[in-house]
Amino acid sequence: MSSREYSPDPKYLDAFPEKSGNDVNGLGEDERRPPSPFFWHPKDRHDFGDLQDAVMHNFHTSPDIQRVYNPNADRGPKPIERAETRVEQSPAAWTETVKSFALSHEADQVGITRMDPSYVFDGYEIGEPWLIVIGVAMDHDRLNAAPDTLENPVSAVEVGEQYNRAARVSRNLANYILSRGYNAKAFPGPWASALLMIPPAIEAGFGQLGKHGSLINRQFGSSFRLSAVSTDMPLVADARDDIGAEEFCANCQVCSKACPPGAIFDTKQMVRGERKWYVDFDKCIPYFGETMGCAICIGRCPWSKPGTAPRLAEKMLARRARLAAE
Ligand code: SF4
Ligand code: SF4
Repeated sequence: MSSREYSPDPKYLDAFPEKSGNDVNGLGEDERRPPSPFFWHPKDRHDFGDLQDAVMHNFHTSPDIQRVYNPNADRGPKPIERAETRVEQSPAAWTETVKSFALSHEADQVGITRMDPSYVFDGYEIGEPWLIVIGVAMDHDRLNAAPDTLENPVSAVEVGEQYNRAARVSRNLANYILSRGYNAKAFPGPWASALLMIPPAIEAGFGQLGKHGSLINRQFGSSFRLSAVSTDMPLVADARDDIGAEEFCANCQVCSKACPPGAIFDTKQMVRGERKWYVDFDKCIPYFGETMGCAICIGRCPWSKPGTAPRLAEKMLARRARLAAE
């Protein structure tokens, strides 16, 4: 379906406030500034509460989705008290310890980066100097069943189950760090809080931003979800992981052609002082609401097909080296 064939349900258009979500996100702004609280934040933090309610309506209507997103779902333990005595180890030893802990508690990838004020939504604070970013892979067949219907929300249930897994990893890891006498706070998705997740994930080695506005990872493509833990435990930062996705996206239109409302820009946009790939919020969100999360763009992305991303990364980096040598 092309954007010309898709007409949003008026209930979404009626729920829009007198402003564009792209303005909240900083589209077209040259100056760097912290991100503004927006969708998936509590309604009193932004002006899009009615639209958020309209988008959540189908999620609340589906019994299958409610089985995943409900207070009894296993999303990990409550925070414990921090131990009074700190266990001392070198940053390298703690880094190895927390990574092994996360990987043996349901994580599929772990990366570490320093906290930066640009990762924190305006009006919030994060005091800890380190971030541990956690990735969990999704079942690609289930993700790629998108777009969902109310009767059979396969993709949305998979997304919810993996968010729950990512939440368990972050909460178990935060409690482990607290038990060693350091501060730790878990940031489980999908509801947002203080932390903007993608920029620190890029710094922590999770890959590169794709044209579809999500990450592309060397192992999982875009078929994964994130959570994080902030801490003052001394750690060692990972490096970015350049997998050649920049060049690939410049010559690929799979996601922009597959997006029913035509929300994916084919050129990079200036967003809060940074030129980057960007998805038009106002066009995406009605379709996202109708289909309980959509996910067509990340499901169809060629990097997401199991086993493909490592080969594509190898091929793109070899091509770059060849071009540089010519
Ligand atoms: S579908 Fe193509 S253009 Fe879109 S993010 Fe994936 S690789 Fe990039
Ligand atoms: S989530 Fe769906 S509507 Fe939104 S950008 Fe991706 S394909 Fe388009």
